[in-house]
Order: sequence, then structure tokens, then C-alpha cells
Amino acid sequence: MPSRPVLRFAPSPNGRLHLGHAYSALFTWSVAEALGGIALLRIEDIDAQRSKPEFDAAIIEDLHWLGLSWPQPVLRQSTRFEAYAEAAARLKEMGLLYPCFCTRRQVAERATGTDPDGAPLYPGTCRHLSAQQRADRLAKCHPYQWRLLTDKAHALTGPLAVTSFDIKGNLSELAADPEKWGDAVIVRKETPTSYHLSVTVDDAFQGVTHVTRGMDLYHATDLHRLLQALLGLPAPLYCHHRLVLDDGDIKLAKSRGSQSLADLRAAGWTAADVRQALGFGSPTSE
Ligand code: GLU
Repeated sequence: MPSRPVLRFAPSPNGRLHLGHAYSALFTWSVAEALGGIALLRIEDIDAQRSKPEFDAAIIEDLHWLGLSWPQPVLRQSTRFEAYAEAAARLKEMGLLYPCFCTRRQVAERATGTDPDGAPLYPGTCRHLSAQQRADRLAKCHPYQWRLLTDKAHALTGPLAVTSFDIKGNLSELAADPEKWGDAVIVRKETPTSYHLSVTVDDAFQGVTHVTRGMDLYHATDLHRLLQALLGLPAPLYCHHRLVLDDGDIKLAKSRGSQSLADLRAAGWTAADVRQALGFGSPTSE
């Protein structure tokens, strides 16, 4: 592990940044400063339909406005599909991925419960296809996805732990439980990777030692830990921060029309006002 801590902020360019993102970014830069490390910017733009260049540019503008900067060029995940394909190929060679032809609707109808995000838990339908059925469906060339044999993969790695850190340097370890995700999608239909695969590959590629992100991704970490072990990648330390709440206990989200930093700026807020409102009194980076 490099001696200097490396952190990252990894927004998706599918909308303007809002206060929840600003909290996550300021948290990341303040932890980097406290640990004597650096914070990098990664744009998670694997979703070609939802990612827009104007949002990418706006993220950079908003972060600079907040007074944040990064010592290395921005990494855009849309430039990294080859690396994700290699990682997926390794998992396939290990016999740990299988093609899944189910539609969203079929998964919802046959679900056996919900995953930690509250989405229908995949019942494993395509896992049980015969070789002939699978070959027939592959030949029909329908778009399909690739799912992980999560229980088999976990049995292969053996028990895994996620190590969490806090800003005072305290570490704590908890057993990872990736199987609560069922057979997670690792390569999506509409893009040749997934959030889980690309975040795991890129945290390692960027040498990230400390991952700071919202509590909404707490459970995803167990799956990331499994992928790291399968792909022989180092395991960073994790710190999941609180989510900035809006209207009581609704997570601030672009889809709910939360006020963006641009809206606040237009309404006369300064970067110092944002920092103060979020509990980050003084600039963490000049
Ligand atoms: N791109 C993800 C998001 O915008 C964050 C990924 C991460 O921090 O691991 O929610």
C-alpha cells in the first residue's frame, strides 16, 4: 500500500450536483487533508444514456467553485471499458459468471425477496438453464446480462472482511456478506460493465487506499470486497458517511428536484455558505 493515502470522489454526470454531493466531496477532501493524503476525481460515466457532457463540465465547475482541486487528471470511466472487459473475462474464465436473459419484469415477478437496495432479489432463473437452452438463447442474440454466481464465488474466496476507518485512525473489521445481493449483475445489458465491477477495478487502478462515500453504498461494499478478492486486487479501507437529508428523511436526489449547487449559487449562496451549512467551516483546499 502506498504510504500516502489516496481518496476519491466519484460522481455520475447525470444531473447537477446538489448539497448531498457537496457534503460527500467536502467530506472526502477533509479526510484526505486530515490523513495527509490526496483526493482524486473520477467521473462515473458508464451509462451512455444518462451521462451528459454538460453535467460532466458542471461537476468540475461546481467542485472548483467549492474550492476543491485534484492533483491528477480526472479519470473518466467511459475510457476504461477495456479494463472492465478484461476483469469480466477473468471472472468468466473462473466459471463465476453466467448469461441471464430475464427481463426486469420477469425478475420482479419471480423475485424471492429484496436485495439491500430494496430491488427484487434475482431468483437464479438462468442459472438453471441447460447447456442446450443457454446455447439457444445465446444464438438468438437477445441483449443479455452476466450475473455472478455469488455463493460459489464466496465459497471460493472463503470468509472476507471489510475494514472501516474513522478520521481519528480507528479501524474496525466486519465480516462481508456479499450473498445478500444474490446473483448480482456484473455486466449489464446496455453497457459492457456495471457499477460494481467498474468501481472495484478503478479503485485499484487509481491506487485508492481509503474509500469515503455515502451510507447508501454501505452494503455494496460487501460485493466490492468479494470482487477484489476474486480479481486479486487490494482492499481499501472504507468510511461511509451520513446522507444529507431533505424533507425530513428523504435522501437528497436529483430525481426529486433537490436544489442544485448551481441553483443555490444563482440564489446568492457563496461556497463558504455551503461549507458552513454542511458543517465544514473552513476551506479544506485552496
Ligand atoms: N458514482 C456513484 C454515485 O454517484 C458513487 C460511487 C462510489 O463512491 O463508490 O453514487
